[in-house]
Amino acid sequence: MSLNARVLVIEDEAGIRLTLGDRLAAEGCSVDCRGDGVSGEEAALSGDYDIVLLDLMLPGRDGLAVCSRLRKAGRAVPILMLTARGGSLDVVSGLRQGADDYLAKPFDMGVLVARMEALLRRVPPAERGGTGPVAFGDFVLDRSRGELTREGKTVPLNAQEYRLLDYLAQRPGRALGRDEILDDVWGYDPDTSTRTVDVHVARLRARLGESALPRHILTVRGRGYKFQK
Ligand code: CA
Repeated sequence: MSLNARVLVIEDEAGIRLTLGDRLAAEGCSVDCRGDGVSGEEAALSGDYDIVLLDLMLPGRDGLAVCSRLRKAGRAVPILMLTARGGSLDVVSGLRQGADDYLAKPFDMGVLVARMEALLRRVPPAERGGTGPVAFGDFVLDRSRGELTREGKTVPLNAQEYRLLDYLAQRPGRALGRDEILDDVWGYDPDTSTRTVDVHVARLRARLGESALPRHILTVRGRGYKFQK
């Protein structure tokens, strides 16, 4: 079987980029490569990929930071971390920042392809979070411009409100726990509490003009919230 996926490779070793590019192209993939963390993150945010192969040790911005920032920006694209160190602490940190799986270097290409197949099966295309707009009610969340509009007019949102809305809007109909939302949108931080989620949801409802009667961000009693288009 062939993978047939759009792949972003963020890796600073040219040799590995070449090998990966050749092998993945042979699997029917289209492959974009970036050699540092900053341009890699940019590509991941602006492009539409099925999977990201992310090296841990990168110039500019390391793989952990890139991973964490992609998740905070609401990108659910599967991320496979490539780690040279193989230390359990790196693995734990990677998974905590939202990586889906990891592979220690040097790795066997056959194993890599099998892991990629498994990840692509696990995360259905609808949940990978491309950059397409999301329409709900009178609103359009323009994800390529990072903007919410209501009947063509911009609704002002601060960065955190936008991230929260983007996260919720990508998961319509799913009951999301406060803990889950906190972890995914704010990242791991011992100083934030689930109350933070409630405060931001209240603000977001006010921005959407649904403080009195929520239409899109519904409360799920005893659990958290659910987005409804
Ligand atoms: Ca590296």
